[in-house]
Amino acid sequence: MQSHQEQAERKTLGDRSKMTELERIRHSCAHVMATAILRLWPDAQFAAGPPVESGFYYDVEVQHRISPEDFPKIEEEMKKEVKANHPFEKIIVDRNQAVKDAQTGRLGALSERPGNPSKFKLGNLEDIPENEPISYYKNGEFLDLCAGPHVMRTGNIGAFKLTSVASAYYKGDERNPQLQRIYGTAFKNKTEMEAYFKMVEEAKRRDHRKIGAEMGLYAIDTEYVGPGLPLWLPKGAAICEELEKLAKETEFAAGYVRVKTPHIAKERLYLTSGHLPVLYKESMYPPMELVEDPSSTSPHSHSPIKYYLKAMNCPHHHRIFAAEPRSYRDLPLRLAEYGTNYRYEQSGELFGLMRVRCLNMNDAHIYCTPEQFADEFNAVNNMYLKYFKIFGIEKYVMRYSTHDPSRLTGDNAKFVNEPELWKQTEEMVQRVLDESKIPYVKVPNEAAFYGPKIDVQVWSVIGREFTLATNQVDFAVPKRFGLVYRDKDNTEKTPLCIHRAPLGTHERFIGFLIEHYAGNFPLWLAPEQVRVLTIGEDAPLVNYAKEIVRELRANMVRAEGEYTNDKINGKIQQAEQAKVHTMLVVGPRDMAANAVSVRMHGKGNVGVKPRNEAFQEILRAIRERTS
Ligand SMILES: [Zn+2]
Ligand SMILES: [Zn+2]
Repeated sequence: MQSHQEQAERKTLGDRSKMTELERIRHSCAHVMATAILRLWPDAQFAAGPPVESGFYYDVEVQHRISPEDFPKIEEEMKKEVKANHPFEKIIVDRNQAVKDAQTGRLGALSERPGNPSKFKLGNLEDIPENEPISYYKNGEFLDLCAGPHVMRTGNIGAFKLTSVASAYYKGDERNPQLQRIYGTAFKNKTEMEAYFKMVEEAKRRDHRKIGAEMGLYAIDTEYVGPGLPLWLPKGAAICEELEKLAKETEFAAGYVRVKTPHIAKERLYLTSGHLPVLYKESMYPPMELVEDPSSTSPHSHSPIKYYLKAMNCPHHHRIFAAEPRSYRDLPLRLAEYGTNYRYEQSGELFGLMRVRCLNMNDAHIYCTPEQFADEFNAVNNMYLKYFKIFGIEKYVMRYSTHDPSRLTGDNAKFVNEPELWKQTEEMVQRVLDESKIPYVKVPNEAAFYGPKIDVQVWSVIGREFTLATNQVDFAVPKRFGLVYRDKDNTEKTPLCIHRAPLGTHERFIGFLIEHYAGNFPLWLAPEQVRVLTIGEDAPLVNYAKEIVRELRANMVRAEGEYTNDKINGKIQQAEQAKVHTMLVVGPRDMAANAVSVRMHGKGNVGVKPRNEAFQEILRAIRERTS
């Protein structure tokens, strides 16, 4: 899933200067790799070599077809360059000089290469705006056209490894030459690199697509239903329902009310919200056109009306706010819905449950007065923390995205043109974040078009990062919809709206949880919570087991029975493989004592217990959402 990171090769100087230390190490390592490749294949031509999510790459054109078998010898040359500890020297040049150096083949090379100009570097030069300075970076003999930044010396690259090779078109355009893209990664030191590769291995083992198929949680039927539209199988649907139940209970206690809205709406709804005609169009499915009443004689009923599948729930909720007169006494009004949204994602971007076209979202919109904002926003943040605790998420950070004042108007406008409201709202959010002790980082220029946004990033138990949920403040769209409440002074005012979705979407959140738990869900979430296994198939024993299953199911416990004459060890093994949380094994002696032998997935035998005690323990663990 590196494609997103790869898109923006040509970063602005501002973006460049924000490179983290690790990105500098990785980008520097790309130069070191190029140095090594040139020592082995001196005619190699380099194009672009940015850092990416988990490492770096460099695109190269070279006669030799580079394969992973070549990696050891490239890494050997790289080690020499790191050991030489050459400084990365920055050299500022004017455009004429740069063009001349590219023509003599000196850029992206160890020396001049007469008759072999640095053709891709010439192309890259054209992309540098007139007013931007042009710089080189030099390590040892290797000279490259590069805006930087870099680490001080090649010796600062603590540990590195080449990982794969792919093909890519120059500047991502298929009309351009095809290049070899060599991927690698680099770290501050060996320990960090080893931890990373261990995590990658573990993530492969816990891949949600693999475990999802093994456990029978979901299916994607591209032939009949469509790509990116997961079908939740009974076991996956059980998890969805448990999550919804958690959300409903938590939100009910926090004073939310539930609503339900249709999956489609007229174009007018999205023209009013501002998602159409432009801002969100690419992410929506194309419209359906409908002639309301063909038999009618009224001229208007013959013109088709466009309906869109909803890509977000807010506009519908705004119309619910507008459905009745509202007074300050009605606020805060917290409208909640597990809403189903449809978003058009490029087919190449679809990925298991993590990137889909149909999303079930733990959504709610809180309408409040500016005076109520801080309390409401805080309560939302605390709800996130409560959930993190339930799921054992220990590492998290909030990414607080603000707007860019230079993009309120004009061709590349990205944000609603309300400079004063942006200022006020961002100050409010900032204050709440500073006063709470929640860790956050500030990201300029990535707000939603209607207000500042908070993306919540969490780390799974094996240390992989996921963006799960968002929390947004909206000062603009309620105004566009003309939403008002009557205030104490009898004037009409526009409410603020907080959009929040702490459990994100079922799709992404369950994808995350599968990895987080490696499919070994806690009892309350486990698709099959209890399996009752008989030792043998004697009729009285089977009846005893069936009675236990019936009693559990009458209490909403997802229990199944296995009553065959197969060997008990085989039955236990099967239940283990299916990741059943709790097994109740019953033999003649258990039956005589009105007891069960309890086994737990991954823990093994936990002993014989009176039937009622085992039963109460199961119900309590589910209710309290422990273990
Ligand atoms: Zn560079
Ligand atoms: Zn919303």
